[in-house]
Amino acid sequence: MEATAAATEDCCVKVAVHIRPLIGDERLQGCKDCVTVIPGRPQVQLGAHSFTFDHVYGSTASPSSAMFEDCVAPLVEGLFQGYNATVLAYGQTGSGKTYTMGTGFDDGSHTGLIPQAMNALFSKIETLKHQIEFQLHVSFIEILKEEVRDLLDSSSINKSETANGHVGKVAVPGKPPIQIRETSNGVITLAGSTEVGVSSLKEMAACLEQGSLSRATGSTNMNNQSSRSHAIFTITLEQMRNLNTSIPADGSLNESLNEEYLCAKLHLVDLAGSERAKRTGSDGLRFKEGVHINKGLLALGNVISALGDEKKRKEGVHVPYRDSKLTRLLQDSLGGNSRTVMIACISPADINAEETLNTLKYANRAR
Ligand code: ADP
Ligand code: MG
Repeated sequence: MEATAAATEDCCVKVAVHIRPLIGDERLQGCKDCVTVIPGRPQVQLGAHSFTFDHVYGSTASPSSAMFEDCVAPLVEGLFQGYNATVLAYGQTGSGKTYTMGTGFDDGSHTGLIPQAMNALFSKIETLKHQIEFQLHVSFIEILKEEVRDLLDSSSINKSETANGHVGKVAVPGKPPIQIRETSNGVITLAGSTEVGVSSLKEMAACLEQGSLSRATGSTNMNNQSSRSHAIFTITLEQMRNLNTSIPADGSLNESLNEEYLCAKLHLVDLAGSERAKRTGSDGLRFKEGVHINKGLLALGNVISALGDEKKRKEGVHVPYRDSKLTRLLQDSLGGNSRTVMIACISPADINAEETLNTLKYANRAR
């Protein structure tokens, strides 16, 4: 796929904020709602701080379909034109990342962004399948402590019931680790990960569920594995245009013949909890590394800020993709012709105000 001027113009990163309602625990503790949305504006206020984003979804509206239409539907459309895309859910543990993305398996009562993206994808394929041949693959991996784990490879995971009834998992020794590689034309691949070919919505949904199940440690403990890992569900769409139907009636060979194959991927990322990150604030300086800072979140902040800074981009400033597995894996789907949406998830509760402010600053820096 060639870079086109039209696509680079609206490059950059779109940032949305999703404020979940106060949840049971917070209500029990008598928490107050400390986040205000300025009516009619994508603006959030927390104490003396005020931030403007591309979109803000408050807890009173029903955000899920509007959020999908604004933030993710255009990325699904872009896949059919061959543009890679990334959706990132950022926020502290308990802020609603998994709920927003739909990477939980235990909650059938809402529709997260991934199930909605799948629906939109298959609806569009349905309308085009007579002209174009499609192939779809999904992978679902997790990055924990700079190691990539396959969530779809059942052979590498021994599901075992732990004492408290939670599903644990143990990597089978001897299996080669998954490696992130870059092809000569800049395409990032995951060598050794399971790529499942799917031909229906049902099959794709089964992959999401299987991976979500194998990720879940079933615990609400702040230190649990799923809060420290990044979960990345990737949909790869390949299109083969049928040459017979793309030759015009007069038999002339036109340029469309050169475009008979397109491949694009959509990464849907449920990021690790942001609560361990120590930051310098919203002054645009590089984040200072704190104790136990999540390497991926640190690198992601730096990459996105380098991409979003037009001045830096024009000067050809180095984008530090190689600083973490997360940014390395997303390299061909962040920046360039790719579309990126970050959804900053926040709790409205006053006890979380400090982390919420950190999240808003991180998200603000991404714009
Ligand atoms: P995270 O993945 O960021 O740790 P979760 O998605 O697990 O957070 O959400 C934490 C809790 O809040 C869960 O019990 C979830 O059901 C609830 N929750 C999150 N977002 C919403 C929402 N928009 N509406 C209602 N409940 C929500
Ligand atoms: Mg989660």
